[in-house]
Amino acid sequence: MNEATAMRSRLCGTLRAEDAGTEVTLCGWVAHRREHGEHLAFVDLRDHSGLVQCVVDGSVDARGEWVVQVRGTVRRRPTGTENAELGTGEVEVADCVVEVLARAEPPPFPVDDRAETDEGVRLRHRYVDIRRPRMQANLRLRARVVEAMRAAMAGQGFCEVETPLLWTPTPEGAREFAVPSRLQPGSFYVLPQSPQIAKQLLMVAGMDRYFQVARCMRDEDLRADRQFEFTQLDVEMSFVGPEDVLQAVTEAVVAGTEAAVGEPPGEVARLTWQQSIERYGTDKPDLRFAMELVDLTPVLAGTEVRALQAPSVRAVVHAGGGSLGRGRLDALVERAKALGAAGLAWFKVTDGGGLDSPLGRLLGEETQRALVETSKASPGDLLLAVAGDWRHACGVLGQLRLDLGRPPLGEGDRRFCWVTEFPLFEGLDDEGRPVAAHHPFTMPHPEDLDLLETDPLAVRSQAYDLVLNGWELGSGSIRIHREDVQRRVFDALRISPEEADARFGFLLGAFRYGAPPHGGFAVGIDRFVALLAGEENIREVIAFPKTQSGSDPMTGAPKPLGEAELRVLGLRAGPGAR
Ligand code: ASP
Repeated sequence: MNEATAMRSRLCGTLRAEDAGTEVTLCGWVAHRREHGEHLAFVDLRDHSGLVQCVVDGSVDARGEWVVQVRGTVRRRPTGTENAELGTGEVEVADCVVEVLARAEPPPFPVDDRAETDEGVRLRHRYVDIRRPRMQANLRLRARVVEAMRAAMAGQGFCEVETPLLWTPTPEGAREFAVPSRLQPGSFYVLPQSPQIAKQLLMVAGMDRYFQVARCMRDEDLRADRQFEFTQLDVEMSFVGPEDVLQAVTEAVVAGTEAAVGEPPGEVARLTWQQSIERYGTDKPDLRFAMELVDLTPVLAGTEVRALQAPSVRAVVHAGGGSLGRGRLDALVERAKALGAAGLAWFKVTDGGGLDSPLGRLLGEETQRALVETSKASPGDLLLAVAGDWRHACGVLGQLRLDLGRPPLGEGDRRFCWVTEFPLFEGLDDEGRPVAAHHPFTMPHPEDLDLLETDPLAVRSQAYDLVLNGWELGSGSIRIHREDVQRRVFDALRISPEEADARFGFLLGAFRYGAPPHGGFAVGIDRFVALLAGEENIREVIAFPKTQSGSDPMTGAPKPLGEAELRVLGLRAGPGAR
């Protein structure tokens, strides 16, 4: 650590027993001050490295959060007064002289991790909030993770290139922020939702391997895991297949994890989208626990029970759930219905290996036995089944699996998983048009190209997601670099040639000058760091985030502009104008 400066010789939190006898000059904030009469005072001095106790023979004219410089001599604390909770707890700084560098008003909330302070107040005084150990640790962890990922990319031959923030619409499909042009009144720049087009142009430009720790802006409603602006590790590579991209990104996230927690994660799992839905009911599987979905369709084929007659019957086993009372079971049924299921069938596995359920009697003994066998349920377990179409039944059970089995955020290992071969289209919009699952430049799976016109929803893509403990960390794909394929995908998306030219003409134009096959990825750094820090909310790993309503309580942004400022931008005052 770079400790010594013109004003200090050491950092507070680094002093240890072996420093006894050393004269030190420290700088920091007064965390606590205790006076014992006129002749003895204790000052707990804090800087970013931690706290140390300073002893002054006399009184001290400094209060909480005043900024001071302290000179004194390190000594071992008298036996019995050591503080095992402090890194510096074996020592104190004695014979201290305190010089006040800046006075301070009492802080708006305690500068420690013990008290829960309202988030609005924390954000209004974020500079005080960040003094707390938790925020210090989070921001420094973030810096370490980003540094490690940068090094991992550079080590694999990637070149960091900055792309513009004043840009033009990009294809991610979210609402965009616009910036009025002063020189061309009435025209606007658009803040990039991602460097997607720029990085593809860099491939045409022969950069071969690009990355950027990139700011992206999306004007979407804010949530715990979403801000207007966020940071991605953005990656693009030429002359590659999906495996190359997965490999390069895996190296970066493994390095980031190691930098954060001191050891690499276990093996990164691989599932196709189909397998992920089939086994976990979701494309964001949390692999910290098993509880995989089971397929009961063959066992129930031809069943007389109406509620279980469906193209697909899937189930999960809730271990030990056989003891749930009627109230809890009814709540599960309601939950399944709220998730869109027609119903939820439950079966308690009895000691004899049979099923206790309102439907049990109707099923007959043989089917009951087959259900228990297929689901590998044990006596005392609860079997929960949903009948419907495949995607839907799996989806409902995937959510119930999380409700019933998911460990708390910080518990269990870090289980990364690649989910590959996403469908090219995620469904139809209100007007019956296919909707791109990733973005319109995603290359279809080569085996499915012929289905583009005949059965677009069945087309798999060469798109992949990276998932960590059930959170989507990012997405990417192999891109379309051939104009004929791009036209067919635009046709499937019902994007006319005129519209395609208006929106992406410069990219398609560039492709005519020699586009290498290429693909890439983007890792959401805010989410990744939040998970590594054990934080539920990405705001805890962002220095100056916005609140849920999109404002910054500290600066007051967004604010109205005055008429004169608006006029310069070629804008007229709206309802919020000053
Ligand atoms: N641009 C995409 C995104 O921001 C990632 C990618 O395809 O590289 O989600």
